[in-house]
Amino acid sequence: MQPFDYIKPQTLEEASALLLQHNGQARPFAGCTDLLIRIERGFVHPQVVVDVKDLPGVHDLLVVRNGDLRIGAAVTMNQVALNPTVQSGWPLLAEGCGSVASYQLRNRATVGGNLCNASPAADSAPALICYGASVHIFGPDGPRTLPLEAFFLGPGRTALQAGELLTAITVPFVRGSAGHFLKLGRTTIGDISLMNVAVLGWPDSDVPSGSSWRIALGSVAPTVIRAPEAERLLSQDTSPAGLEAASQAAAAAARPIDDIRATAAYRSDMVRVLTRRGVERVLEEIGG
Ligand SMILES: Cc1cc2nc3c(=O)[nH]c(=O)nc-3n(C[C@H](O)[C@H](O)[C@H](O)COP(=O)(O)OP(=O)(O)OC[C@H]3O[C@@H](n4cnc5c(N)ncnc54)[C@H](O)[C@@H]3O)c2cc1C
Repeated sequence: MQPFDYIKPQTLEEASALLLQHNGQARPFAGCTDLLIRIERGFVHPQVVVDVKDLPGVHDLLVVRNGDLRIGAAVTMNQVALNPTVQSGWPLLAEGCGSVASYQLRNRATVGGNLCNASPAADSAPALICYGASVHIFGPDGPRTLPLEAFFLGPGRTALQAGELLTAITVPFVRGSAGHFLKLGRTTIGDISLMNVAVLGWPDSDVPSGSSWRIALGSVAPTVIRAPEAERLLSQDTSPAGLEAASQAAAAAARPIDDIRATAAYRSDMVRVLTRRGVERVLEEIGG
């Protein structure tokens, strides 16, 4: 493996300055479960790696004053998945984070790293998109905040600019909601998603069906995507016919590719199946 320098800055300003100073040649990291493999395989060649784990606030996992959940950039998948507050208030997120790889890997892998890696198969992203999460970024011009949906630009590409790093994620609380994350891998545990579906629903007396919905799909497009037509159809009708129409609309939103792990046709069909299954389970919980 090519040698590199390791630096552990103590302030956001220092971290940002380091990234800017070595622009293109320095990479931030948290758990390093993605980055180290990419270095080892020769996909990236950083001269410097910048450890974010001593930066202020990056280990926060707490409910802030307005009821939102704040997740620091170095919080691990297991810390989220096993946290009782997350399990009761943001169960969809606990399921998504709890589905990543193995227990051992989840002790190291972070939610921040999962988002910055920007894989369409990132298992924390669909749940976070359903809850309407935002990402907090620090860079040479100070802090800024973006909706998570605007953060992903393509496979491996984010909205982070030179000298910027992710500091935290804010996840709104959706009152009365229930959610489920359904993941299909080649094995039941420990595999990257062939495709996945996150479904969030909550009672809403202002819409004809009595419930509002968010559906996010992973590994079926260059980024994690929403299925807005499926969401709209469910807000109109959650009868068996409505569910079938919405599940087909979710499959139509998918733009999968054939690759060594699955065909595009299989992925699309499984979006239909898992969307329907997820909506049925949520309906049972919210009493639709
Ligand atoms: C065996 C194995 C199985 C896996 N299974 C899954 C799976 O089932 N589901 C899944 O979603 N993923 C899986 N992964 C991928 C990986 O574990 C996750 O994406 C993990 O969450 C990455 O977190 P990390 O902290 O290790 O990221 P790192 O490797 O530290 O970083 C990942 C990327 O993000 C950048 N980065 C990290 N932190 C910051 C920051 N604060 N600001 C800016 N950029 C940053 C890094 O430069 C790098 O490009 C698997 C990986 C392995 C090795």
